[in-house]
Amino acid sequence: MAKFTDINAYSKNLAAGYKPLPFRFMPLDSEKYVLTNMAGEFVVTDRDGLVEFAGGKLHHQSPAYSDLKSKHFLIDSDSDVALDLLALKVRTKLSPLANFTGLHIFVVTLRCEHSCPYCQVSRANDNRTDFDMTEETALRALDLVFQSPSPAIKIEFQGGESLLNLDLIELIVAEAKRRNETEQRELAFVFATNLAVLDERALEFAREHNIFISTSLDGPKDLHNRNRPRPGGDSYERTIDGINRARAVVGRDHVSALMTTTAASLDRAREIVDEYIRQGFRGIFLRALSPYGFALKTKFYQSYGHERWLQFYFDGLDYIIEMNRNGFPFTEQYAALILRKMLTPFQPGYVDLMSPSGIGIGAVVYNYDGDVYASDEARMLAEMNDKTFRLGNVHDNTYEEIFLGESLLDPIEQSFAPSAPMCSWCAFEPWCGSDPVFHYATQGDFVGKKPLSAFCGRNMAIFKGLIERMNQDPEIRTIFENWANN
Ligand code: SF4
Repeated sequence: MAKFTDINAYSKNLAAGYKPLPFRFMPLDSEKYVLTNMAGEFVVTDRDGLVEFAGGKLHHQSPAYSDLKSKHFLIDSDSDVALDLLALKVRTKLSPLANFTGLHIFVVTLRCEHSCPYCQVSRANDNRTDFDMTEETALRALDLVFQSPSPAIKIEFQGGESLLNLDLIELIVAEAKRRNETEQRELAFVFATNLAVLDERALEFAREHNIFISTSLDGPKDLHNRNRPRPGGDSYERTIDGINRARAVVGRDHVSALMTTTAASLDRAREIVDEYIRQGFRGIFLRALSPYGFALKTKFYQSYGHERWLQFYFDGLDYIIEMNRNGFPFTEQYAALILRKMLTPFQPGYVDLMSPSGIGIGAVVYNYDGDVYASDEARMLAEMNDKTFRLGNVHDNTYEEIFLGESLLDPIEQSFAPSAPMCSWCAFEPWCGSDPVFHYATQGDFVGKKPLSAFCGRNMAIFKGLIERMNQDPEIRTIFENWANN
């Protein structure tokens, strides 16, 4: 039977040199390797440097030695607090878990007057009020919201088109605020809306309650209107008009937009970025299409592979970097989330990049009919008649049954990246996520075979791409540090 080595053996080693701490490594290209530790700090070196370090042969006066020591890749005889510091950094990264669910999404209606072919929700016609959430369901969902231990609660109203059920939104906001008089949480609200039906009543309500507005803008007029058909073919005009009116009432920083990449977007990354700048945004989130709901039904998801999306992504990213070099500050927001993980001790709390997975923990969805889903994507999957990630119903189940049941704990446990095949030895694991819903939707199980996974392929290429760019040019490193810290 194997025995542990006596404790004195380790101190002898330290007296003679150094001891590497746990680390993982991957090739960046044919010459360079990236090394990461448990806290997500990283070092780039060549093969000889890696072999020298791992073999215990690094000279203690070399610059590489100091770099690796300061980033907790090794300890030596005078590393008194190094392990405690590393542990503290790992704890800081994992600390948001203790707060549990902060984002609570209320699907107040499935009605929508748009008919976007890539829509991830099976929308209902805008006169079908049987697809609206009832008051009773909303109040029961609020009971669950305030059982979350999170000190910060964000309630986001989604649809369909959320503003088609403004009566219910008004009731939920009033009731949440009333309950919060005793709860004293940090409470925020978001309208997720296409802005086409934004009227003065909704705007005044948003102003009065300091509500954030999140909309969709896919790019220039022709592209946006092609992606997002509605009666009158004027989705773009209504969105831009709505953005401007909303900014005037709730303030510029309370209005944000998201884009979705369709096949028609792929050659137009720079035009899409230009459109965001023209409309006065300070950043853009270059997003791929999700393999759920209508997008899959209409075969939109298969219309491009992740390699083609990556070309689009890096074209946009490099354009934005060039802009920053020329003195115009503008952020690519997906890169900023990853850079926050790479360059700071903090977690951005973005569900797709969490491990343990952020489903249920980072965000939860209360559907119009009272069903509770582990994420927005889980709800979209249910729209395709697959309720694997249905956690329960607000009318039938307790908080404990919903949030501590097997429907949530099973996928979180199985997909946990540090113990998943390939992820467990991947150098990018400290920055990555596990996304069991994506892997279930595309491969039929919570873990997924990572060599075949678009999630893995996309993230791995972006991790490498960001490191290469920082490594090649200190000016890009400075730009990225600004993104990570903003
Ligand atoms: S999904 Fe891919 S990139 Fe992410 S940790 Fe796993 S193997 Fe690495």
